[in-house]
Amino acid sequence: MIAQQILDSLRVVKLPMKNEFREINFREVALFKGEFGWGEFSPFLEYSDSECVPWLACALESATQPRPHLFRNEVSVNGTIPELSDQLEIIKVVESFPGVDTFKIKIGVNLEEDIKRINFVRALKPEAQIRIDANGLLKVPHAEELLGQIGEIEYIEQPCATLAELGELKSRVNVKIAGDEVLRKARDPFGVELNGIVDYLILKVQPLGGIKRAKALAEHHGLPVIISSALESAIGINYGLTLAATFEEMDFDCGLGTGSLLTLDVGEIPICDGKMKISNIEPEFDSLEVAADRFDWWKNRILRTAELLP
Ligand SMILES: [Mg+2]
Repeated sequence: MIAQQILDSLRVVKLPMKNEFREINFREVALFKGEFGWGEFSPFLEYSDSECVPWLACALESATQPRPHLFRNEVSVNGTIPELSDQLEIIKVVESFPGVDTFKIKIGVNLEEDIKRINFVRALKPEAQIRIDANGLLKVPHAEELLGQIGEIEYIEQPCATLAELGELKSRVNVKIAGDEVLRKARDPFGVELNGIVDYLILKVQPLGGIKRAKALAEHHGLPVIISSALESAIGINYGLTLAATFEEMDFDCGLGTGSLLTLDVGEIPICDGKMKISNIEPEFDSLEVAADRFDWWKNRILRTAELLP
């Protein structure tokens, strides 16, 4: 698919979010269509062109390649709780994930607030499993202190930023550790030595360059995987669900329910009884499309990124 073909079907939408997440309160998303459906290109606004390359490769794969063999047509998902402190807001978010058995709670900025948030979600959903995600924000002693105070959890995702810190934490605590940024932010994700550093791998289809490459990375590292989102629109989420369904074994609830954090979306993939169905979505753009200057910004970003594709 050449740049012109992308541009012919290109649409750019702005999706407002219910709560601030990763310090943002909206997502801008570029979508284009190829012979096998829609592709989503939605790297975060601050990313450099070179960091956008795998995201574009994924969008191209989604639009131009046939879908792989799937082992299931629906995927169990977790609820995702942003770094909120207000209890009413937390209740609203928890309720937007009907039937899920697992909640992933964002932490890392304020230890005291983190513990309160975790305890509050536990009190609301005593039967649910809890996993937490620090996005690499903790130092080893802080992570150790936190883990000593929150009781049993399924795993902690990317507690610390570096491989050395993750390895150090792993030697000190008896809690499973999942790697996310350590893989998707690596210059060469095949070159990172993760053995003895993390127990599980988070796979995100866009930043890892599409389904084929994400699967190759999973195989290369040989660790159990959890598929998660990059806060995509329903188009990108559906592609993440597709990746999840290509694994014969999937023992974890996946982090693909994040559409519930958006106020508006180009389509809806409802969470029913904790599961989401892979869907054939035809996006609806009404009232979501960005102004001409933002469209041009995305168009130029795509053209620059396309130049860098291998
Ligand atoms: Mg993460």
